[in-house]
Amino acid sequence: MKYALVSADSHMDMSWLPGNLFTDNVPDAIRQKMPRVVDSPNGPIWKTEEKVLGVYGGLGFGFSKPRMGKSRQIDKMYEAGYYKGPPHAINKEARLTDMAMEGIDAEILYGMTSAGNRIDDKQVLAHTYRIYNDWVSNWCKASPGKWFGLACIPVQDPEEGANELTRGSELGLRGADIFVSSTVKPIYMRDGFWDPIWKASADTHMPISFHIGGGGIQVPGPNPESGDPPKSVHAKINPTQNELGYIGTHLPLEQLAGSEWLVSIIMSGACDRYPEFQFVLGECGAGWIPFVIERMDLKYNDAYLDQKFSPPLSLKPSEYWYRQGATTFQNDPTVGHFADYIGENNLMWGSDYPHPDGVWPGARAVIKSTMGNLPEKALKKITCDNAVRLYKM
Ligand SMILES: [Zn+2]
Repeated sequence: MKYALVSADSHMDMSWLPGNLFTDNVPDAIRQKMPRVVDSPNGPIWKTEEKVLGVYGGLGFGFSKPRMGKSRQIDKMYEAGYYKGPPHAINKEARLTDMAMEGIDAEILYGMTSAGNRIDDKQVLAHTYRIYNDWVSNWCKASPGKWFGLACIPVQDPEEGANELTRGSELGLRGADIFVSSTVKPIYMRDGFWDPIWKASADTHMPISFHIGGGGIQVPGPNPESGDPPKSVHAKINPTQNELGYIGTHLPLEQLAGSEWLVSIIMSGACDRYPEFQFVLGECGAGWIPFVIERMDLKYNDAYLDQKFSPPLSLKPSEYWYRQGATTFQNDPTVGHFADYIGENNLMWGSDYPHPDGVWPGARAVIKSTMGNLPEKALKKITCDNAVRLYKM
């Protein structure tokens, strides 16, 4: 299929999925613990195990109720009709209409890995990911060429993660997503702890994505009057000034979590051990990359790691970025200035639909204002060809 514009970062969030998806197809013994939609006085809500997650049809990865006035982008989504009619995320006709509005021909679909932060029972989580991977693969197959799903893989046990990744590849999924904030050990482990996953990724040519979410900026303490736990800051209707300070700090810095993952995966030696392995920093932005890879080279050498690592990296650390890495971004004006330096082959634009950090509606205008100065060939690589190549679309 011929593509002109591809979103390398779009989403299929858990909160929009059919409410009985996870309770069918599981052993009786576990059914009552699985994520499910139940009625409440305020409308349908998601529960898992005995916990309430939040509303059906929530914002972004989460389960807080969408509402006007929370951000200008959310207001634009309301005005463009996203919250009207059938659930656009899973309704093919509505979703295609939304894509066509911005001229987006196809999407890479990130799934519901953030469930890893919400579901405590490992068995429940493994079943949840398995069921999602089956469901999204069928969903994509029914509309060839439009959607390409990434497998959600559990990260409590590398062997189990590798098996699910391989199974995802057999289902026709095109990559795998790891939710780093729920991993049991850091990505930079050099003892081979994570190797089963990197090896399975290399063997199946399924790139591993590290998508932002759940990263740690210190949160204000619980509100002494309401006793609200700090995690609810984003969902609050009337945040305090301190909580607004948290939101103002968290939102611009969230994407920089990718800098840790970029350096970690290179320092782990995985890129040397598995030269076919490819990684993607999902929604991590781009402008910070030249600084970080230069700094990585400098410190690798300065701290004698080139002599102390056993075996040493065979390339300069930054060279692995250009050989095996990629990042996605939505609205990053630095790309228009430094695409060459960051890596024309390593940049993939994404709309982040239907998330409020995204650029739907308004994608075309953002592409023009941030990258309109780039040579046509470079722009086409970044907004289409790199994703088509990486995901074998
Ligand atoms: Zn995203």
